[in-house]
Amino acid sequence: MAGPEHSCGVVGVAADCDVVFYMHRALNVIQHRGQESAGISVFSEGKVTTVKNDGLVSEALNEAALAGVSGKVGIGHVRYSTVGSKGVLNAQPFTVEYNGGTLAIAHNGDLTNHRELRAQYLDKGWSFISDSDSEIIIRLIAKYLSEGEDIIKAIRSTMAKIDGAYSLCVLDNDVVYAIRDPYGFRPLCIGKVAGGYMAVSESAAIDSLGGKFVRDVEPGEIVRITKDSLESFPLDKPSQKAHCMFEWIYFARPDSVMDGREVYDVRKQVGIILAKEAPADVDLIMPVPDSGRAHALGYSIGSGIPYEEGFMKNRFVGRTFILPDQKLREQAVSMKMNAIRSTVNGKRILIVDDSIVRGTTLKKLINVLRDAGAKEVHVRIGSPPIIAPCYYGVDMKSRDQFIATKYSVEEIRKIIGADSLAYISLEGMVKALGFPADDLCLACTNGLYPTPIEGEKLRPQKQ
Ligand code: SF4
Repeated sequence: MAGPEHSCGVVGVAADCDVVFYMHRALNVIQHRGQESAGISVFSEGKVTTVKNDGLVSEALNEAALAGVSGKVGIGHVRYSTVGSKGVLNAQPFTVEYNGGTLAIAHNGDLTNHRELRAQYLDKGWSFISDSDSEIIIRLIAKYLSEGEDIIKAIRSTMAKIDGAYSLCVLDNDVVYAIRDPYGFRPLCIGKVAGGYMAVSESAAIDSLGGKFVRDVEPGEIVRITKDSLESFPLDKPSQKAHCMFEWIYFARPDSVMDGREVYDVRKQVGIILAKEAPADVDLIMPVPDSGRAHALGYSIGSGIPYEEGFMKNRFVGRTFILPDQKLREQAVSMKMNAIRSTVNGKRILIVDDSIVRGTTLKKLINVLRDAGAKEVHVRIGSPPIIAPCYYGVDMKSRDQFIATKYSVEEIRKIIGADSLAYISLEGMVKALGFPADDLCLACTNGLYPTPIEGEKLRPQKQ
């Protein structure tokens, strides 16, 4: 709720039926991952048709836009811009023609060397139609294909050139490929659906189609998906993983399971640990809807203090974080939340949220509670302070935007107007996530990056 902006969501489907409905539904389910644009590319009768527009899935891919579009193989995308400007020119999927047909790509994550690659290929005489890093990926795959490499080799050659975070769905004419970078920064999983198979950013989309979760795409793996089969092309040796911890703490839907860990359960564990680490003498535990809900429930379980809903949310105002402009975000907070006076009045309340980036949202929420008669408002946070930028697909690009780089915890407490404030420890959060710390990206909380980034510290490498 008070967290950072996200990047994108991807889907790819091959089935013995029209997949447009599948993709539309899946993109709706992962809409929280990006609300600026949506698009699909579908293969039918020897050609790829792409429809993409600004706006939510329901607007960008409405009945009129999809009229006459059908096919048994396709990929789709929802976008929040993190690299490249906004606008339909940067909307995905991107397509390119090569001497063997058409390629299309849907990308979640950010390349960390896209500027160098772009400069390098501009020097070689290439031109680009967008400023998105995803275009570089598809152009490189097309280049290697045109030079005679088969598709798997061409994808591997491209992976050898690009650095950073990428979960991809690639359409090569009538075949879908699901690809995950060797660190596994962003999620990507595979499901069995009626008549075929799909790959998608979050498993909740497979459930929504009545499908069955098969497995995650492994870091560094390429999976060829047809209506009848899955074919795996893994890395030669296991890679050093770096799953983005924020996927569990904040971004992903609670009903998604990623890399074997259910988001809801992780958030509940965070709350349980937080209750032990930072207890409080209060009457009620309340969530910041919706992303703080499971954290708050966990805190209630861990502390034995009752859990109550104290905010009423206007569901028809979008998640504040995803609005691209700070002023819009601030206005949206007041539009979104109202306190339930009978729950709040005269009570000592503890609210639990997933993270603090700027602090704006929490400050407003605390005001809402005090206006409704809360006697005390305490705050607990389900991630350590955010102190360093993300280069892997989350819109937290500069240290200036983080309240925790400028102020101490006590100063932040005063700024947001809370009676007490505490964050979960890094160790506590890692324990709740249930992975070895080495398998996680924790860079925005500890400043140690899994991959080399100019001007930043590299995390200790496993031998
Ligand atoms: S820096 Fe933070 S937000 Fe970015 S990938 Fe790492 S953990 Fe996720």
